[in-house]
Amino acid sequence: MIYDVVILGSGPAGYTAALYASRANLSVLLLEGIEVGGQLMITTDVENYPGFPDGIMGPELMQKFKEQVERFGTECRFGSATSVDFTSSPFAITVDEQEVVKGRGVIIATGAQARWLGLESETRLKGYGVSACATCDGFFFKDKEIAVVGGGDSAMEEANFLTKFASKVTVIHRRDKLRASKIMQDRALANPKIEFLWNHSVTEVLTETGREVVGLKVENTQSGEESTIALEGLFLAIGHDPTTQIFRGIIDLDESGYIVPEDHTMTNIPGVFAAGDCVDHRYRQAVTAAGLGCQAALDLERWLEDQEHAG
Ligand code: NAP
Repeated sequence: MIYDVVILGSGPAGYTAALYASRANLSVLLLEGIEVGGQLMITTDVENYPGFPDGIMGPELMQKFKEQVERFGTECRFGSATSVDFTSSPFAITVDEQEVVKGRGVIIATGAQARWLGLESETRLKGYGVSACATCDGFFFKDKEIAVVGGGDSAMEEANFLTKFASKVTVIHRRDKLRASKIMQDRALANPKIEFLWNHSVTEVLTETGREVVGLKVENTQSGEESTIALEGLFLAIGHDPTTQIFRGIIDLDESGYIVPEDHTMTNIPGVFAAGDCVDHRYRQAVTAAGLGCQAALDLERWLEDQEHAG
């Protein structure tokens, strides 16, 4: 079977693209990937997705996205694209190195992943005081002392943003020089609520009940000396990696691996569109990803119509 559209990814961008495409009477296959539901599956309360005045848990929101697309006939299938042949439409996508599925059009919504330090305690406390999204979780740290790890623009931006809530933000950076742009550095250095802990890395996140953060164990990267800091939240801002490895050499990517669209949501390959965090490293919000998913579906629908008229 050749689907009208194959969508890669099951975050807000992928599901919203599927919603619009299936309501336009297109046959839609959505490949869910390994992390079904995407990054929101590792958040707890989502309070900034419009329409949920009392907030909603990330996994529950993604379940609702899925139910909504299935209602309109989208076929959701567990599996990841392991290689693609985008030479001509219908495009061929190999799923889990086995089966090949085909789509007249494709929407890439494979998302991005926040980088983590890789500590066992960090993994265990995600959603319980450890976060990689200040916009999502900053609100929970009113009048609390917290830390941000990183020395780039994201770390400066998140540290500044978090001072709206937290009583004190300690930026922990592994070197004594920031990577961030001058203006972002200046803003953070001038903020009286931000302190810098230079030449340090986090080696353990401390907890008492396993449901909260009470401090950090840190190590001086020069001397190796260990110490502890008492605080209630840890934000990681050490970068994101878009999930675009299989498109390298096929789809135009920037130096960080983000998809570079050519015409609105269309990539350099006509008929292949991109939406969400794999293309947008600036906003990275569920609502903006959903908006891009909608745009990609509308662009693809028009492209398919143009193909029919041309043919
Ligand atoms: P980034 O520029 O790659 O910076 C990552 C930071 O995290 C670096 O300071 C790095 O340290 C540190 N880091 C990386 N791995 C680490 C680890 N395992 N342990 C401890 N520290 C670690 O990433 P970003 O800040 O997310 O920015 C990504 C891109 O988006 C950049 O081009 C940035 O300019 C852009 N951006 C722009 C804005 C804005 O203009 N408003 C806002 C956010 C992001 P080292 O410095 O030692 O390598």
